[in-house]
Amino acid sequence: SSQVAIETLSPAEIVVEHEKLSAKYTELKTRGLSLDLTRGKPAPAQLDLSNALLGLPGDGDFTDAGTDTRNYGGTAGLPGLRAIFAELLNVPVAQLLAGNNASLEIMHDLIVFALLHGTPDSERPWSKEPVVKFLAPTPGYDRHFAITESFGIEMIPVPLGHDGPDMDVVRALVAADPAIKGIWTVPTYANPSGAVYSEEVTRALVEMETAAPDFRIFWDNAYAVHTLVENGAPALDILGFAAEAGHPNRPLILASTSKITFAGAGVSFFGASAENIAWYTTHYSKKSIGPDKVNQLRHLRFFSDADGVRAHMAKHRAILAPKFDLVLSILDERLAGAGVATWTRPEGGYFISLDVVPGTAKRVVELAKEAGIALTGAGSAYPYGNDPLNTNIRLAPSFPSIEDVAASMDGVATCVLLAAVEARL
Ligand code: PMP
Repeated sequence: SSQVAIETLSPAEIVVEHEKLSAKYTELKTRGLSLDLTRGKPAPAQLDLSNALLGLPGDGDFTDAGTDTRNYGGTAGLPGLRAIFAELLNVPVAQLLAGNNASLEIMHDLIVFALLHGTPDSERPWSKEPVVKFLAPTPGYDRHFAITESFGIEMIPVPLGHDGPDMDVVRALVAADPAIKGIWTVPTYANPSGAVYSEEVTRALVEMETAAPDFRIFWDNAYAVHTLVENGAPALDILGFAAEAGHPNRPLILASTSKITFAGAGVSFFGASAENIAWYTTHYSKKSIGPDKVNQLRHLRFFSDADGVRAHMAKHRAILAPKFDLVLSILDERLAGAGVATWTRPEGGYFISLDVVPGTAKRVVELAKEAGIALTGAGSAYPYGNDPLNTNIRLAPSFPSIEDVAASMDGVATCVLLAAVEARL
């Protein structure tokens, strides 16, 4: 590869480099690509790993621990499946509910219940407060930010490091402002940076003094078991840490099998203190007589136990890891020496977070689009879609084939370089 450090080029050399890259970009456009790196969806080969679910639980199999899954009842979900995920998520089984197909729906419910009824620790419903604010570690998950934005909850961005948010910033904010009621987190292989919250950060989050008595940590462990390496990050006992710290009601734990079995047709989970579980169940039981236990039984039969889930995730890893490796090797080869970008090397999850020359992320996405490569909108990992440095792009390599990952990343690299050189013209 002919990498030149863009920053060191003279104005005349920049003009030459711009001509070269423009020609390369024109050539890219003539390929007529139609590629999509936007959303973190499992690839068809990953979905195929769970096709046995389509025949489960099978004719005549419909009970678990005496529960007839064909009938109403059991808002907590199926005991056998809850036990499997209690182990994987490090939550006592009595404090873990199994739900329907989307953990995002539970998060939305939790916010709505807090707004309309208040939490067990609230002086009044959040909607009766003059202002409600949430901390948003960034870059973060756009659908989290969309929930809080839709209810007029003000989001305050906080920088996210490799082991969690900057706790000095978090502590100062929550200590001073009782309007701050919560924080969005993705503690394991965060979307999109791959950050893994350390035990130190996790303990600090549950220990810190908050001006709001009803502060909540949305602990969205969506990628708890989605490792790309041999030894994945363990799920920390955040409920235990919180109880020790005297704030048992602070964490709200979410997870699902969306990226374990079928995305949108899996099972969601909610873990919290006994008091929070009772509070949630009271309100949830007004909207439903219970979750889809037949789907839960299907999942129980499919996995059998926690090791069944771990073995299944190893098969996902075998499909995903080569795609991540390929993205990283193309970025290394095409961009490292040019000094125009930095990126994360996640050990799990679904994303790579790419930071291009500040001020050029939108231009990169636009150039890629014109060349037939769809990227997630620049700024989407920030509250209100506002990346103040216009630098971050989320890459999602799971869905495309390995050939398409190669073609699209090569194209993206050309766009990053061209935008960097344009900015120097
Ligand atoms: N949380 C995070 C961090 C995610 O990345 C996703 C899916 N992309 C979800 C939640 C959605 O999960 P579910 O399908 O259970 O609603």
